[in-house]
Amino acid sequence: MSQYRNYIAGEWSSSDRQTVNVNPSDTNDIIGEYARASRDDAERAIAAAHAAFPRWSRQSPQVRSAALKHVGDQILARKEEIGDLLAREEGKTLREAVGETVRAAQIFHFFAGEAVRLVGDHQPSIRADIDVEVRREPLGVVGLITPWNFPIAIPAWKIAPALAFGNCVVFKPAELVPGCAHMLAEIIAQTGIDPGVFNLVMGSGAEVGAAFAESPLVRGLSFTGSVGVGRVIAANCVTGEPMKRFQLEMGGKNALIVTDDAMLDTAVDCAIDGAFYSTGQRCTASSRIIVTRKIHAAFVDAMKARMERLAVDDARKEGTDIGPVVDERQLGQNRSYIDIGVNEGATLLGGGELLERGAPGHYMAPALFVGVDPKMRIAREEIFGPVASVIEVADYDEALSVANDSEFGLSAGICTTSLSTARHFLRNIEAGMAMVNLATAGVDYHVPFGGTKASSFGAREQGRYAAEFYTTVKTAYVAG
Ligand code: NAD
Repeated sequence: MSQYRNYIAGEWSSSDRQTVNVNPSDTNDIIGEYARASRDDAERAIAAAHAAFPRWSRQSPQVRSAALKHVGDQILARKEEIGDLLAREEGKTLREAVGETVRAAQIFHFFAGEAVRLVGDHQPSIRADIDVEVRREPLGVVGLITPWNFPIAIPAWKIAPALAFGNCVVFKPAELVPGCAHMLAEIIAQTGIDPGVFNLVMGSGAEVGAAFAESPLVRGLSFTGSVGVGRVIAANCVTGEPMKRFQLEMGGKNALIVTDDAMLDTAVDCAIDGAFYSTGQRCTASSRIIVTRKIHAAFVDAMKARMERLAVDDARKEGTDIGPVVDERQLGQNRSYIDIGVNEGATLLGGGELLERGAPGHYMAPALFVGVDPKMRIAREEIFGPVASVIEVADYDEALSVANDSEFGLSAGICTTSLSTARHFLRNIEAGMAMVNLATAGVDYHVPFGGTKASSFGAREQGRYAAEFYTTVKTAYVAG
């Protein structure tokens, strides 16, 4: 059994409180034991990051770039090992887990480049003999709080830009995935960066996460997780002294529109991938599939047939399409939404039942509802599991209005062969990411990621847009 420790001020530290992480494909498989940090540990990590900041922020960009390149190289070199742990700990398939690991390496490599890119702006003042420089400077200590569903890629897309731009990091991963966080921390520790520049603090949101949000030494807080927790963090950030910058990436109820003129195979591919891969545990999952009347029957038949062929099994077994649900609590939530849908009057076309496999795991058959009214809870609330709702509409105009009638606005897609419909959709859909003939999930790492409405708050993540969050602007006037 592995032992996972916190990494604070350049030292690996244990705790007298230990919690285990368990394989959701086989709950008899205890993966490791991790040291649950206390609020004091979190404060120690924040103080270490604060102490390290003056030197790291003035460190040569080349040194920061080399450190990030090293992290990316090491992740790539260990991609099979990390991918295996990710699949074992979170339950996505090996193919998806290795893919996510490669993505994390690419993100570190991207920001190794960004660390040495020219930034800022220099121009003459409107006054004579004065120059104006607009500089970008790091914030200071940044707190990074992440969810369990992308345990390597989401930490990477926060840690890499934070360090690239000269910030010091306190990182709190979700409690279900300490193993992946620990492996990433091991790799970062091996770069030889100064103690305190990067700290890993594993523990509860209420204790460690809240300590980050409440600390006066933390100047920026980047959070990915649920809307409810996002609101608590936002309140802490604005009521604390001093107020701190924050960025929230939260839930989704992503719509995929299928119009009468869509290519049926493409539409079914997009729906199956978007709704069910990664066990539907993606903020960008296509959980609302809005289908126009003439193609509805053919689409539903084809989607049901494809869904029934999906192999649900151990995440690390060859041939598995869909792994288990991450834990018992999430499984219970998914199953309760099956009951809610049936009680609301939707038709469960298939799936939703618990499945027995070789080992005790949290297996659930992907579920497809039809006859869903847009006002039903299954059409409005984020389920975060392999449950898709098909909503039949008369035409594209109605589809667009149903798609936009949501508190969320993360990702949205359309399957159509009409250029004008696609262009109308891109102009009018209320979402941060809009896809044409693609699943709502599946994004590039070098372009902005984020949404509108309740899905996101603050600067966009990823790519060059990450500088908006991880740097602050100073306007310098020089005379003489
Ligand atoms: P969660 O909100 O329960 O937890 C997220 C993180 O916040 C965890 O590390 C948790 O320990 C911490 N936390 C909990 N309470 C806290 C508090 N009071 N103060 C500070 N931190 C606290 O979310 P989850 O169950 O881990 O992840 C699922 C959610 O994440 C879904 O809603 C999903 O849509 C969302 N998500 C969003 C994106 C995105 O980019 N928009 C990506 C992935 C997941």
